[in-house]
Amino acid sequence: MARYTGPVCRLCRRDGTKLFLKGAKCFAEKCPIEKRNFPPGQHGQSRKVKKVVGYGLQLREKQKAKRIYFTLETQFRAYYQKAANRPGVTGELLLQQLETRLDNVCYRLGFAMSRRQARQVVRHGHLLVNGRKVNIPSFQCKVGDEIQVREGAKNFVILEEAKNFASGQHSVPWIDINRDNLSGKIIALPKREDISLPVNEQLIVELYSK
Ligand code: SF4
Repeated sequence: MARYTGPVCRLCRRDGTKLFLKGAKCFAEKCPIEKRNFPPGQHGQSRKVKKVVGYGLQLREKQKAKRIYFTLETQFRAYYQKAANRPGVTGELLLQQLETRLDNVCYRLGFAMSRRQARQVVRHGHLLVNGRKVNIPSFQCKVGDEIQVREGAKNFVILEEAKNFASGQHSVPWIDINRDNLSGKIIALPKREDISLPVNEQLIVELYSK
């Protein structure tokens, strides 16, 4: 299936929770989850809310994670396979891979207001990793990698806006961020407690390990 390009607030309303796909709007009163927290569509409001259990619940958790990180099914499954083949807690390793994608690191560094915008920043070649241009959103960052905005892009309006937005956000303990210089260094791999995410990764592992 091709990448979803439709209205993203519908995705949050479908899952009944904030997935933080839109940047500043997600923290404002006009977030549709605040006003219309029922499934989208003509009959969304009148549809009876069924308790989701078992397979349905596992599927919803997987869909949430995929939507948050803007990954496709094949790529997401490949992340799971890689995590399952490594020693350690599979769910945590899965989230670690998703968190260390370059587009997510760009978002965590505060170079974009949402992961979707971060993806665009990367695709347009505005980032340097260890001094070299990288424009692949799924590029896996490693401990010790230095990420910075290239000189010519530092005055871009979206980066200025993102910088102001990020100054009000919590910093992440696994990245050493220099917001003034628009750069950062990965100092550790993220642990589960460092990743704030409305997802139960254990249910995703159960889904794929069937
Ligand atoms: Fe839309 Fe963000 Fe609210 Fe989700 S959290 S409904 S993306 S504004």
